Amino acid sequence: MTAAPIELFDSHAHVDGPEFDGDREAVLARARAAGVRRMVVIGAVGDTTSAERAVALAERDPDIWATVATHPHDVEKMTPAWWALHERLAPHPRVVAIGETGLDYYYDHSPRELQQVAFRRFLALATAVDKPVVCHIRDAHEDARAILAEACGPRRGIIHCFTGTPDDAAAYVELGFHVSFSGIVTYKTAQAIRDAVRRVPLDRLLIETDCPYLAPVPMRGKRNEPAYVVHTAAVVAEVAGVPLTELAARTVANTCAVFGLT
Ligand SMILES: [Zn+2]
Ligand SMILES: [Zn+2]
Repeated sequence: MTAAPIELFDSHAHVDGPEFDGDREAVLARARAAGVRRMVVIGAVGDTTSAERAVALAERDPDIWATVATHPHDVEKMTPAWWALHERLAPHPRVVAIGETGLDYYYDHSPRELQQVAFRRFLALATAVDKPVVCHIRDAHEDARAILAEACGPRRGIIHCFTGTPDDAAAYVELGFHVSFSGIVTYKTAQAIRDAVRRVPLDRLLIETDCPYLAPVPMRGKRNEPAYVVHTAAVVAEVAGVPLTELAARTVANTCAVFGLT
């Protein structure tokens, strides 16, 4: 007899991207076979075609939902027409959040001031359509929390692919946010990230691939895909001190709760 299969929810996948153009259907089939029945596809990388592709994927598959925004790396390129497309797609019934948006002071691909302006504007859009926000924050946690704490911001959301300190994680929880862990948590050198897992209550924890990037051990170095999120789940369960079955059930419930899915 084999153990009952666990169900997982990849809360952050970039399967709309060109890295999956050659075998997208096979990738989605492998996810289902691995128990990753549902995923949220992040339409926010490069240009507006990412948002359009994510929404198209969500329209044809009842187990896929989309987000729309522009990654902090790319906000410098945004035009008025680009903003208008996001404003048009944001109320779409298959769009469950605005994101990913935020601040990335590690790469600084767009000027910090422009990142802050865009982050505030996406938070206002999330509030206007009453949807949560998916935040990408790297080396910018103080500025990010100051912006998130402003009175007008949405009260629901996710700090995705968490890379801050354990105290940063606790501070986001205090602000009302969920915290999502990627394959980084499986890397030998990432003890601070594992310590951060313990600062997030079990009802605020999410898991994600952020694929095609950041494949978890033992797949590290390969193209990541949703099926691999099971390796991240196993490490998060071990660190959180709960059985994998419980971690799986809780992260599925938390992902549904934060995105407003039943
Ligand atoms: Zn990100
Ligand atoms: Zn991402």
